[in-house]
Amino acid sequence: MATPQLTKEQRESLFAPLLEKTKAELERLSQGDQKVLWALRRKHSKELMYLERSTPMARKKLKMKKWIDQKGICPICSKQLPETYSVLDRLEAFGGYTVENTRLLHHECHVEQQVQKNYT
Ligand SMILES: [Zn+2]
Repeated sequence: MATPQLTKEQRESLFAPLLEKTKAELERLSQGDQKVLWALRRKHSKELMYLERSTPMARKKLKMKKWIDQKGICPICSKQLPETYSVLDRLEAFGGYTVENTRLLHHECHVEQQVQKNYT
């Protein structure tokens, strides 16, 4: 399934107002202090990314669980996975980093798979 994307209408009616409200709120809360504005934007950005990708610690724990569940084997090439530098692949991007929605792959196998997905 393709990664969901907002339509042009949704970008205009949902996203644009949300972004404008967010920017206005950041300005209001920082009260003209550029350092506070910068720090608020940075923290806000990081927390939004965690909502989408989970925290680094949660992903690390999930990687360890997937490595054990898969008995250290990459499901693409059936070869042994290293304990580090492997990649959590989401079956559905919007499904998040959950046990059910991920598998652990070699970085190279993941890249090759992404290339193939984009050509089909
Ligand atoms: Zn592999």
